[in-house]
Amino acid sequence: MTTTDSAPRAEGVHWDLSPLATSADDCRTRLAAAIDDCRAFELRHRGQIAAFDGATLADALAELCRIENELGRLHSYTSLRESVDVSDPENQDLDALMDRSMVEAANALRFFELEWLELDDALADGLATAPEVAGDRHHLLAERRFKRHMLSEPEERMLGERSPAAASAWQSLFGRITSTLETDFDSGDGVEPHTIDRLLACVRNPDRGLRMRALETLYATLGPNAPTLAHCYDTLVGDRLAMDRLRNYDDPMDPTHLRNEVPGPAIETMMSTVEGHYGLAHRWFRVKARLLGLDRLHLADQYAPLGEAREVLWPEARTIIDSSFRAFSPRIGDIADGFFADQRIDAEPRTGKRGGAFCASVAQDAQPFMLMNYTDRMDDVMTLAHELGHGMHFTLAAERQTALSFHTGLALAEVPSTFAEMIAFDHLLANEADEATRTALVCERVEGSFATVFRQTVLARYEQEAYRQRGEGTTLTDDRLSTIWWDQNASYYGDAVEMPDGYRLGWSYIPHFISTRFYTYAYVFAHLVTLALYAQYRAQGEDFVPKYLDFLAGGGSASPAALLRPLGVDLDDPACWEPGFAEMERMVMRAEEMTA
Ligand SMILES: [Zn+2]
Repeated sequence: MTTTDSAPRAEGVHWDLSPLATSADDCRTRLAAAIDDCRAFELRHRGQIAAFDGATLADALAELCRIENELGRLHSYTSLRESVDVSDPENQDLDALMDRSMVEAANALRFFELEWLELDDALADGLATAPEVAGDRHHLLAERRFKRHMLSEPEERMLGERSPAAASAWQSLFGRITSTLETDFDSGDGVEPHTIDRLLACVRNPDRGLRMRALETLYATLGPNAPTLAHCYDTLVGDRLAMDRLRNYDDPMDPTHLRNEVPGPAIETMMSTVEGHYGLAHRWFRVKARLLGLDRLHLADQYAPLGEAREVLWPEARTIIDSSFRAFSPRIGDIADGFFADQRIDAEPRTGKRGGAFCASVAQDAQPFMLMNYTDRMDDVMTLAHELGHGMHFTLAAERQTALSFHTGLALAEVPSTFAEMIAFDHLLANEADEATRTALVCERVEGSFATVFRQTVLARYEQEAYRQRGEGTTLTDDRLSTIWWDQNASYYGDAVEMPDGYRLGWSYIPHFISTRFYTYAYVFAHLVTLALYAQYRAQGEDFVPKYLDFLAGGGSASPAALLRPLGVDLDDPACWEPGFAEMERMVMRAEEMTA
């Protein structure tokens, strides 16, 4: 395939949403019918669940799956349409209708989960182990893990009603401040207003002076807002700790562990293992300092580019994906090919299209779609591989699981995507002739792993300490948060990286702390698990592939621990995290060799 005659920036690569709905009208009509189905479901089954046997439960679940699939298809149609043309009024109307309808659907169906949770353990266990519902056994039992922490229905309703005015208000205040904060800065095109994100993007600029000025400007801009941002966080942490008392959680991390279905002790072992390997990061930081001709790396140099990757036009990206995925498994190659052949990718950047990239699972009885903004950069090829990795997971899980059991939780969701990046990366490196591109690929790989594994652990440790102090009655002022932040970061960067004084405010704009507590350790978990799996693949070759495809097809049919065990990753074994670090060390060594 030649690339010289193809248009840049994936011109014309748009998706075809017609398999989901034929028009906005079609979507509206079917949505009304789906809401009617939800109400009919409620009329038929409310108050009945305690009297179910295996067969009636199986019928009800099958009905729920049909509703879930149709709502999934229509919801995806609406949000995918909007994501490529956010300002179109019809898209906005459809989106608003969809939001209202989803609330109505949830209201009608909520009784089912509540009645299921209300059953006593013996009855629920008996029903869940009935052979007729085998496909949803884990889903049914896993729902009940929250039972001990649920309050009565009126109490839950009260908490639900007050949540927008209470917790959510602090989150939106935080969001409003951090997204609208702007300051004048010259990042190369003259002095212009810069948002936080735009200033942060400057740390990848080759010009060191610019990188340092951008960080200084960022901290100076955050300074006056720090007390308010700290107050948002302090209030949210206080509210969450109060909820923990009401809901009988002993540790502030427990609600997150329960949602992720991972054992707390395994996560603690994982985080201390990460901390035990900070030396590997220091080693890389010293190499990087030498490459940049510096005695010591400054925080602003952490993501300074090394090497420069060449351009890759869309047809070549497709070839890279096809040959790398197909070499791993023809089945995986076919799944990726389906995205291109059925026009389930929207890749061309254009006005009105949202930024970033995602893969939408759509529904268990439909095919996934993906969105990205392709700009002919090597990074974009990795993004394409990443999103197609989600796509292979959704496709294989949908074949074997029901609509209620095909989604995995947060802990494993990023494993197939990261694994797919590794497949594409290894193939690229084995075939790439351009030296500067090879260097850029390897260095970005190392730094990407560090940013995920090490830095996200620092973030989780920061949160732990903040919750501990707040739990002892200490108000989380900006000064106190700055001290916690500085101490946690100092133990990571050690004497290998110089932290500027302004970095004390590094905590203040991170949205994860505000939106979902302890969200970040799931990134660490998924990344280390992926690296461990990739090491197994390297050792076992083809023998590994069918086991991996089985794992993908498992979807959410079991806990992460149970899904990973057949692949040789035992979460109960404290040593299970080490192969991930051996892989990281391998990458660092490769980077050291290439840049020697
Ligand atoms: Zn992802």
